[in-house]
Amino acid sequence: MQITFLGTGTSQGVPIIGCRCEVCTSPAAENKRNRPSLWVEVAGRSIIIDTAPELRLQVLRYGPTKLDAVLFTHAHADHIFGFDDIRRFCQTQRTAIPVYAARDTLTVLQSLFSYAFNFRDGDWSIPKAIAHEITGPFEVLGVPVTPLTVYHGYMPVIGFRIAGFAYITDCSSIPTETEAALEDLDVLVLDALRYRFHPTHFNIDTAVATVERLQPRRAFLTHLCHEVEHHTLQQSLPEHIAPAYDGLRFFTPDPPRLSSPAP
Ligand SMILES: [Zn+2]
Ligand SMILES: [Zn+2]
Ligand SMILES: [Zn+2]
Repeated sequence: MQITFLGTGTSQGVPIIGCRCEVCTSPAAENKRNRPSLWVEVAGRSIIIDTAPELRLQVLRYGPTKLDAVLFTHAHADHIFGFDDIRRFCQTQRTAIPVYAARDTLTVLQSLFSYAFNFRDGDWSIPKAIAHEITGPFEVLGVPVTPLTVYHGYMPVIGFRIAGFAYITDCSSIPTETEAALEDLDVLVLDALRYRFHPTHFNIDTAVATVERLQPRRAFLTHLCHEVEHHTLQQSLPEHIAPAYDGLRFFTPDPPRLSSPAP
């Protein structure tokens, strides 16, 4: 399984408009963060988690050439406003794309992008999406996915576990029952907005404490704002934890068995 970070920034991206701080003016590529999307390639399937506003640019830069499914964590603007860009995959593949999300997220998507869910056969000028409501563990083309309910302030958000990999963005607390589904991880990706407290996101300290409690073999911190300088953060973290950056790619073992062959 290959994981690629398409975007690792918080809701306004980095640099943010009109800021001349050290991070916003940094020439380092690791300090330039688009909004959060993630690309998972597993056993020949290509899955994107969230469609950030820069999805088109992310796909052009980091290379998903096909798309089999989209998973959504929640319906905040920074996670959904690139949704229309799945259109190009529908056109080249001549397929509708299955979309997996909780009911409240689907309701927002189906309102904002109603044309994508009410498509007519044969019209490839619009994106075509097929809604699948997440109500428990599910399979994406034979790949087992465990949804992980976490809290973003008071708002429930879905993280995802595929084999030994878990992705949890936009999170300020993890319920005990969800922590039980996070045992024996190879890689955990976790929200870590900034150094200071924030009411709806883990900060660096709470994210690191959560990693230490859950004990994945490796962890990456994401959804970072312009207060976080990549190299400074990297130097302050234990060896098995690293800040994510746009374009970062890593490998983790596939699920042990899949119920259907790759499409
Ligand atoms: Zn977000
Ligand atoms: Zn700044
Ligand atoms: Zn959010």
